[in-house]
Amino acid sequence: MKISEYVRKYEALCEERDIPPETVMAYLVEITQRERWNLYLHYEEEMPEEIVPEFTAGMERILNDEPMAHVLGYSWFYGYRIPVNGDVLIPRPETEELCAHVLARIDRNFPEGEVVCADIGTGSGAIAVTLCKEEPRVSMIATDISEEALVMAQKTAEVNDAEITFYAGDMLAPLIERNIRLDVLVCNPPYIPEDEDMERSVVDYEPHVALFGGKDGLKFYRQVFRDCRKVLKDKAFMGFEMGWNQRKAMSRLVEESLPGVPYEILKDMNGKDRMLFVYFSCEAK
Ligand code: SAM
Ligand code: GLN
Repeated sequence: MKISEYVRKYEALCEERDIPPETVMAYLVEITQRERWNLYLHYEEEMPEEIVPEFTAGMERILNDEPMAHVLGYSWFYGYRIPVNGDVLIPRPETEELCAHVLARIDRNFPEGEVVCADIGTGSGAIAVTLCKEEPRVSMIATDISEEALVMAQKTAEVNDAEITFYAGDMLAPLIERNIRLDVLVCNPPYIPEDEDMERSVVDYEPHVALFGGKDGLKFYRQVFRDCRKVLKDKAFMGFEMGWNQRKAMSRLVEESLPGVPYEILKDMNGKDRMLFVYFSCEAK
């Protein structure tokens, strides 16, 4: 069968199962890039024998709602290859935006010298590796409560040649215990309310410890706001990802927990409220 015919066949099957049909080309591009041949040049030719079994087996898993990143064993984030499996959240495009905003604020507030930065709940290590690679002045710490996630994050650091110090523990505890003081705290905590309905590909395949943030989804922000002064220098900022529908509750929480401290909520490229920045003697971009 020709490549184009395979693609049409699986696109139709995807549509039947409410899976975005673009997934087929995205998956095929990943497999063929590894084989170092140009998919588009051969599109109307027979699918090569060596690709058929991998492609069809992978597509069956994808049709079964398994995320493509799990089938491939990696995902792309900010141009970096991030190993993933069922122990970590697959890094999301919104989180790339969080990284870009953090980097811009580092430039603005800490234009020279070392910048001590921590990624709390690092999961795959995507944020930590990106900040570390994009800003060589960053001295990076990454934490997670999940030992399994830390194994993956270490792998991510290794394959991307990033120097990161990892600690296991509950939110800020590993930093408090070690008396560490930060210029920048970044955190994409689990923020989905416990009773929220979600897609099968997420709930069945991604770790619940990475998704759910208590009854209102804000449990981990409460914890960080309560303890953050113990781990921040006088001049510092914090950048968080948050749920698109949490603006009101989040504003109330920041104002109650950190009275008088300037903050802003930023939208992602889909126009949804998605990031929170809190500034201690620092400036917005
Ligand atoms: N930073 C990654 C990213 O942005 O793709 C993963 C974010 S995921 C939404 C949240 C992460 O927080 C998970 O890796 C989870 O294991 C971790 N986590 C959950 N509870 C935690 C806790 N009490 N202390 C530290 N990390 C925790
Ligand atoms: N954005 C993720 C999702 O919708 C959740 C990430 C998180 O809880 N921090 O599945």
